[in-house]
Amino acid sequence: MKIGVLALQGDFREHVQMLQRMGVDTVEVRLPRDLLEVDGLIIPGGESTTIGKLLVTFNMMDDLRTRALNGFPIYGTCAGAIVLSKDVRGLAADQPLIGVMDTTIQRNAFGRQVDSFEADLSIPVLGECPFRAVFIRAPVIERVGPEVEVLARLPDDTIVAAQQGNLLVTAFHPELTDDLRFHRYFVQLVERCQ
Ligand code: GLN
Repeated sequence: MKIGVLALQGDFREHVQMLQRMGVDTVEVRLPRDLLEVDGLIIPGGESTTIGKLLVTFNMMDDLRTRALNGFPIYGTCAGAIVLSKDVRGLAADQPLIGVMDTTIQRNAFGRQVDSFEADLSIPVLGECPFRAVFIRAPVIERVGPEVEVLARLPDDTIVAAQQGNLLVTAFHPELTDDLRFHRYFVQLVERCQ
């Protein structure tokens, strides 16, 4: 099994390090041919406007959309979650999206960079221990469709992690912590989809 990390922009190196710590074979995905090698893909945090445009420039947008609709596992963190969503509020006028997950996401929902924060979340699919979630200019998931399972909420009920079959999203950044549980959860999803 090999897992790709989209390496066009954003904090892809941190995701690669998480996967390597777990002993998972990892490919930095920059070109369409890299996608042929991998069994699943992580789209990192960064700037969703830039990631969307670069996916078009490097000819991976349509391929990824088709793959996502056919069961290819994708995990989007923060900007990655935005790019996967069908509906985005606060979208830049020319911002392309993969647009496969039945969610409405509000970009930059907590304000500016200075409004970044951390919170201990209860995430039942990861077990008993709380998960330290790092939010950086994070979005929130405002609406989920009937096929989407909510995995985590903030204490005020705001949805910050969700799954729709092969698609997993978090508004926060597990790759900026030492906690491997979210990455392990994704690797298990990829194993099941193989
Ligand atoms: N604010 C960024 C965006 O809208 C996402 C920030 C992040 O990935 N940490 O694309």
